Order: sequence, then structure tokens, then C-alpha cells
Amino acid sequence: MFASLLANFAIIGFFVSIWANSQEWALLHTRRRRSVMLGLYMGAAAVAAMLFSVNLYSGVLFDLRNVAVSYSAVFGGPVAGVISGAIAAAYRIHLGGSGVWSGVIGICAAVLVGCVGHYAMKRRSNGALTPVMLVSALAGLSPVAAMLALPDAVRNDALLGAGPSMALLSLSALAIASFITLRRIALARSRALLLGAIKQAPDYLYVKDPDGRFVSANQNCAAANGFASSEDMVGKSDFDLTDKLRAAGLHREEQNILSGLGAVSEKLEELKGPDGEDKYFVTSKSPVVLADGEVVGLVGVTTDITAIRKTQGEIEQSRNTLSFVLEEMSDGVALIHHDGQIVLTNEQYRALFPRTGKFRVAGAFYADILAEVLATDEQPTAGRDDSSRWIAGVLQRLKTGGDDIVQLFDGRWLQIRIRSHMDGISIVVVSDITSLKRAEADLVSMTRQLEQLARTDALTRLVNRRGFDETVEREVARARRSGLPLSVLMIDLDRFKLFNDHYGHLAGDACLQKVATAVSSCLKRSTDVAARYGGEELAIILPETDSAGAAQVGEEIRTAVRALDLQHAASDKGIVTISLGVASLDALSGAEDVRSLLLRADEALYLAKSGGRDRCVVWQPPAASFSNVA
Ligand code: GH3
Ligand code: MG
Ligand code: MG
Repeated sequence: MFASLLANFAIIGFFVSIWANSQEWALLHTRRRRSVMLGLYMGAAAVAAMLFSVNLYSGVLFDLRNVAVSYSAVFGGPVAGVISGAIAAAYRIHLGGSGVWSGVIGICAAVLVGCVGHYAMKRRSNGALTPVMLVSALAGLSPVAAMLALPDAVRNDALLGAGPSMALLSLSALAIASFITLRRIALARSRALLLGAIKQAPDYLYVKDPDGRFVSANQNCAAANGFASSEDMVGKSDFDLTDKLRAAGLHREEQNILSGLGAVSEKLEELKGPDGEDKYFVTSKSPVVLADGEVVGLVGVTTDITAIRKTQGEIEQSRNTLSFVLEEMSDGVALIHHDGQIVLTNEQYRALFPRTGKFRVAGAFYADILAEVLATDEQPTAGRDDSSRWIAGVLQRLKTGGDDIVQLFDGRWLQIRIRSHMDGISIVVVSDITSLKRAEADLVSMTRQLEQLARTDALTRLVNRRGFDETVEREVARARRSGLPLSVLMIDLDRFKLFNDHYGHLAGDACLQKVATAVSSCLKRSTDVAARYGGEELAIILPETDSAGAAQVGEEIRTAVRALDLQHAASDKGIVTISLGVASLDALSGAEDVRSLLLRADEALYLAKSGGRDRCVVWQPPAASFSNVA
């Protein structure tokens, strides 16, 4: 009997240890397939246990079949439990005897107990100790249940006396089996996790033996060396993978690591890729040393940093280009964050602001610089009305962008162009446009001078005919709008042809100049205009002057010319004299437009000539006789 029980223990131990040690292999299969396999396998274990049964009483058999059945249900679930239970039950029925049905009931109880344990363990993935103890305790119940189910005739006292020891035996057998299995499952899981992590690591991982042969390598490492799977790399050395020279170098390096001369840390390597492209790697290698100090190999990690290197190179290049452009350009450039902090400025930018340039550096806040601009009076017109509003306005423009032209205390003009960028930074470009501004001002004054010149008579410096025509048009229109009077004087030198003939044309020109000067000196109002109408004829526009006033001015002019006392031997007057005709836009003359006004002035001049010259005649309506002023 003792030998049978020992054999039972050995059978359960044998089956369980095989299953527990094949956890790595079992994990390769689906859960369902695992359950079926376990069910069949433990069914076989139950049958084997029954081969070494102890016959308690005419066909009442005791063995550890229920432990096998419970075990399969605990670790394989109901499917495994039912399969192993069915196999055990079938074999028990086949054996026969008076304990057949109690045996089958015991087997059913074992399946049930196993299922309870299975679900208890599932809910508590960590610390499965308690459910294991519970199941083990219950496991003791299945042989007891079987015994209670025996027919009355068989269930005698002696049989009942064997119950507790049978229960204890079952209980301890299942407890030991479960503990071993749980430990093995946990071990298999953590190993699978570790292997998975290494396999999927983005870097190249490998372990080598002291001879430099690959013991294992991850998928990435195998693929990089042209192998389909990591297993294909096992046993290979660097001499199989790379050229002799490099392999020899690596071997020497690894021998140094193994002999404790130091690990390789972050070593940079430049290699050619399959298409001849430059590739960059960083490698670290360290020895694997056991607790007793024995060096059993080395572990290496290599990272491909080609992409990082490339990006770094690109960044550096664009940074160099940017700083080159910033330093070479003639404009001042500043990058300013929307919160007002300066990101960078170039030398030119700082030089453009003589009083605040030293503050315009990275990290400074623009609001402080603007305050300094005000304090140093760098831009004399800035913030004159309201300094805080000016600062707020400039800061706002930094965000929105815009163009500005400012003048500095030293007279220079700066154009400031601000362009806002989406990433919260504005680009400020400052150009010195002083020469441009000067050229612009020169151009304006030149244009004015040209305009002036185009309206000026070269000989007399009076307004020329074109200027006169424009002015008289404008003044007549204005007078008609305002209802105020306007007068025109036509002046012609007397016997001037004879003057030329007598003194020559050049003397005639000089005479004409003097007369013109005398004429304009008689005009007191800034709105009065003296013009050379043509040849030796002059014309005067007198706004807001009626005919009486004009006659008075005419008389003054005539007197002023006489006062020049220019000799004119060919004239009966003996000196240079002028004749004047006056016409007005007023109630008296009633002229309506420029043409009639000039015509009338001309008529009056004609009358002055025919009346004996050296006189001023005011135009009169035909009905009345012409009045002669002098
Ligand atoms: P009158 O008293 O009738 O006006 O006699 P006049 O000789 O002045 O006659 P008129 O006005 O017709 O003569 C114009 C002369 O003025 C002709 C020309 O010799 C002279 N003259 C016109 N323009 C100029 C000029 O620019 N320079 C000079 N030197 N002479 C001029
Ligand atoms: Mg004339
Ligand atoms: Mg004349």
C-alpha cells in the first residue's frame, strides 16, 4: 500500500514537472489549445495514477487521480478539467468494482474544485498563493465526497478511518504541484517579456561569448547584418559579417573588454551603407560578469544615429546661413517675441540706434527699450503727446506688424518694417533711409523750382505769359465767386522800337529789366502779380482792387518808371516812359470773363497810346467818354 502511494506521488510529480517545464513551449500556443492539451495530458496522468491504486475494500480504489484532474482544471480551466475528468471517469468505470460510482462522483468533485481554483486565481493575477491554498484545501474534499457516495454496505468504519489521510495526501500533492507550476509560469512569463523587449528594441542588441561569437542578437541586429532571423546569427563572429581589418579591430577591442581593460561607451563609428551612403553608429559594450567574478561574455548595444546626425547637420547649416545673412545684410534685423522679449538682433540693428543700441540685445524687453528711447530723447517726436500710449502702440504693432518711418535726434530717418509670424515672433527690419529722404526733399524743392522757372521770364524775372494766363484765370474765377473786384493793367513801353534802334537791342533788354524791377517794386500786396505779357509789354493782376485803385497803382508805376530817368533820345519825352491801360471786373466796367477783361485793358492801352503816351487810361463803357488819368 505504501509503495502504491509513493508511486502515485511520483506519477503526479513526473507529469506536473514535465508540464511546468514546458511553459515556454506552451506559451507559443493559444489558450484554448493549451487547455485541450493539458486536459488530455492530465487525463493520461489520472489513468497512470489509477494503475497504481490502493484497493481499500473490494473494488474501492484510492489514488491521486483527482489531484491530476483538479490540477488540469486549475491551470487549464473547465475545458481541461472536463477532458481529464472524462478520461479518468471512463477508465474508472472500465476498472469496475463497488466503488465505481463513488469514484466518478469524486472525479466530478475534483473538476468542480479545480474550476473554483481556476477562477479564484484568475481574479487575482498577483499573489495567487491564497487561491492555491483554497484549492488545495478543497482538493482534500473530493476523495471524501467519493467515499460518502459509497453504498452503505461498503462504507464501513474502517473505510471512514482512511478518509482524513486520503484527504491530506490529495491536499498536499495538489499544493506542491500548484506551487511549482505557478513559479514556472511566472518565470516563463518574465522570460518571454524580456525576450520580447529585446527582440522589439529599436537598437541593435547582442550578446557574445568570450570568443566573440554571437550567443544571441535581436531581430534588428540580425536584419542589419542580412539575416532573416536572430537564430541565424548565433555562432557567427564579426569575421563572418564585416571585412577582415574591421573585424580584427573589433575583436581586439572586445578582448580588452573581456580582460577587464574597460568597457566601450558611446563609441562613434562612420560606416558605408549598402548603397555607399554615409551611416553613423554609436556603440556601447560591457562585459557580462557572474557573481563569482567569471567573465562569460559581453553585451553590446549599437544605435543608428544617421538620421539624427543628418538633422543636426541641417540645423547647423541653416543656422550658419542665417547668421551669415544677418551679418552681411545692410539692414538692421531684430527678432522679437510677441511678449516683447528680444530673441536676437544683428550688429547693424544695434548701430542704427546710437542712444539705445546697447540695450537692444537678446533677452531685453522692448517696453524697457522704448522707455529708454523716451528718456534719452532718441526720437524727439516720439510720445510727445502721451508717452504711455506711444509705448502701447509700438508694442501692439510688434504683434500685428506694420511699417513706420521715424526721425532720430541726429536728423537721420529710419524705416521700421515689422512682419508678424505665426509662431509668436515678429521680424523687425530697420533701414536708414536718410539719403532717400534727402533725395526726396531735394526732388520736391527741385520740382518746385522748376515749376517756378517754368512760370518765370528769364529776362525780367517777372511771371511769364504762361504764369500770367494761369493766374488771371484763377483770380477771375475767385473774384466772381467772392464778388470782390479785380483789375488788370496792361503796360507797354513807349517808342521802344526806336530805343532799340538807337541804343541797340542789348541796351533795350537792360532797359526792359530796369522797367520791370520798377514796376514790381510798386506792388505792395503779396497777391499782386506782375508779368511779362510779351515783347516789351507787361501786365499786372491786382486782386480785390477796383478800377479807381488800379488807376492809382498805374499812376504810381508810370511815375516810378519816369523816376528811373532812363535816357531815350529817340522819344519826344527824352526819357523812357510807359503807357498803361486799366480794366476791372466791377460794377463799372462790367467785364465778365478773362477775354473781355484783357480786351478792355488792351483797348484802354491803345487809347493811352493814341492819347499821347506816358499815361494811364481806365477803360470806360462806350457810352461814356474815356477818362484820362494823366
Ligand atoms: P509804341 O510807343 O507805339 O509802343 O512804339 P513801339 O516802338 O514801342 O512800338 P511797339 O510796341 O509795336 O514795338 C515793339 C518793339 O519792342 C519791337 C521790338 O524792337 C521791341 N522789343 C520787343 N521785345 C523786346 C525785347 O525783348 N528786347 C528788346 N531789346 N526789344 C524788344
Ligand atoms: Mg508793344
Ligand atoms: Mg511799345
